[in-house]
Amino acid sequence: MNAQKKTTIILSVIFLIIFLVMIVNISLNFRHYGIKSVEDKALVISDLIKHSLTSHMVNGTIDKRDFFLEQIKNSSHIKDLWLVRSPALIKQYGGGLQGEHAKDEIDKVVIAKGEAKKVVSEDIYFNNTFRMTIPYKATNDAKINCLKCHDAKEGDTLGAISIIIDINDIKTMGMQTVIDIAMVAFAVLLLIQLLTGKLLKPYMVIFESMRSVVTRANQGDYSGRVKEIGSKESIEVAMLINVLMEKFENILDEIEKKIDIFLSHKRVNKSKDPLNDVKSTISQLSDIYKFRRTIEHDIGIEDIYNRLVSVFKTKLNIETFTIIECNTTHKSTKVIYNSHRLHCGVLEDGCRADRASVIVDSCQFDGICKSFKQDPKTPNNYICLPYSISNDFDIIVSIVTQTQEEYERIHTIIHFIDDYIDSAKTEFISKKLMQQLKEQSLRDPLTNLYNRKYLEEYINQAMIDHQKNATRYGVLMADIDYFKMINDKYGHDVGDNALKIIAKVLSDSVTSQDLAARYGGEEFIVILKDCDRAKLLEVAQKIRTEFAKQKIKTASGLTFTKTISIGAALLPDEAPNFWKVIKLADVALYDAKNAGRDRVEMFDATKARDENFDVEY
Ligand code: GH3
Ligand code: MG
Ligand code: MG
Repeated sequence: MNAQKKTTIILSVIFLIIFLVMIVNISLNFRHYGIKSVEDKALVISDLIKHSLTSHMVNGTIDKRDFFLEQIKNSSHIKDLWLVRSPALIKQYGGGLQGEHAKDEIDKVVIAKGEAKKVVSEDIYFNNTFRMTIPYKATNDAKINCLKCHDAKEGDTLGAISIIIDINDIKTMGMQTVIDIAMVAFAVLLLIQLLTGKLLKPYMVIFESMRSVVTRANQGDYSGRVKEIGSKESIEVAMLINVLMEKFENILDEIEKKIDIFLSHKRVNKSKDPLNDVKSTISQLSDIYKFRRTIEHDIGIEDIYNRLVSVFKTKLNIETFTIIECNTTHKSTKVIYNSHRLHCGVLEDGCRADRASVIVDSCQFDGICKSFKQDPKTPNNYICLPYSISNDFDIIVSIVTQTQEEYERIHTIIHFIDDYIDSAKTEFISKKLMQQLKEQSLRDPLTNLYNRKYLEEYINQAMIDHQKNATRYGVLMADIDYFKMINDKYGHDVGDNALKIIAKVLSDSVTSQDLAARYGGEEFIVILKDCDRAKLLEVAQKIRTEFAKQKIKTASGLTFTKTISIGAALLPDEAPNFWKVIKLADVALYDAKNAGRDRVEMFDATKARDENFDVEY
């Protein structure tokens, strides 16, 4: 229902209520005054009859009384009229010719109590009468002294008169008046409707239009405009609102376009309300900006990964995910973070998402990634997102979802993940570069084994570990036998190859907690953590025999083998200080060389003393 109709109905109802109250009030007043005038008439008649009766009595013409009464009875509107004698009067003078006894209960009550009584009888058939019974009382004033003739005291009821008056006229007049008023009121009502319709219409149209425009704006549609109609003022209001709406629409559009530039993806899941979209985009941008500013001041690439993990967990509420780093040049894959158990064989089989550079989604195709280890008890979905950070550096974010809702939610937040990783790209590249530079500065370029610089760092840490946890370390010093001959006989390049081969043998012989480093020239050091004599000798023998099996190729395609000598010493068995133990391992290596090479020699303190070896221990 529109506002104009509503206003007209409300005004009409108000008017109708006022009109009804007025009608009821007028009717009641009319009735009251009508009855009051009839009552006055009855009193006048009663007085007239009383005086006439007294006159007839005084003048001795009481026999003319009935004629007089009959005349009055025949007057208009008098329906009936009769006199009643009190029991005392009847006793004194009898009941009279007419038998003027009390006709009904009302007469009796009036005679008994001496009080007038009136009864209004109304019905729908226009039998409307007013009956009044008025007592006549004995008086003793200057003009008339009733006590002269009546055996009564002053104030005693001598009789009464009952008059019934037709009041149909009063009712008819009242109804006529009400009908007249109703007609006038109806005309006024029509006039009000006509006027409100004509005067309010333009305002109402503008109001309706405003309501629709504001409702649409509230739901996010700012394209609505208010109708510019009606009076000068209403057109002005409509124009002001329209200018405001246009401003809103244009500014929001502009803001949206500008902030979208900062986001890697166009937002796909836009809501219906652009104002809400702008708000959420700005808060998203602010989060990403804060993230970017924070990682700028982080030291290493691990810090960026840690922050990314924290964002995924706390901001994006991703529960089960893995971050994988792939180096396309070295074809190496590293699991950076894993929230639960590793749910795929990425380390063995490689990564499909990385290989194809596309999102791998379990819902795209049944068993799309063979590497995924599906849990038969709780089948779940996975989405793997590949990000190319630089030419040889990719990051894969692999998310596993337990429920369909979570799977669908992840799809809606993929653009957030994109934005975070995108914003971290430059920092990833620069920190990766720094990491590589640092790595390079700690590695020997020929063998890719750690160099002496790194050895020093490692030993510092290992010494702390030893002092704190009493960890035992084993040290092996290895030196290729007659290495110079390779250079001399086959050339420097073949010598370099031999160095690479021994480096590989050493790397393969140690675990990730141990260290194999190039000590200098063709001399290598191996440090084994949590090591005893037996284990140390076992590893040393393994290195020696393994190297002896390696075929070294010459430029002409021939192959030859070489041997290696190894000296071993233990921390803290031989000395409490790492550098001293290294020195003692070197002494043992010297012994191995002297003993004929291609052998492992454990440092022997007694032998060293016999030879007056100048080592403090
Ligand atoms: P020994 O059995 O006593 O150890 O005899 P050796 O010939 O191995 O020992 P020596 O110390 O006399 O020779 C070491 C040689 O290693 C000398 C040097 O030219 C060579 N060398 C050192 N660094 C490199 C390198 O990076 N590449 C090559 N090709 N040769 C190297
Ligand atoms: Mg040598
Ligand atoms: Mg040497």
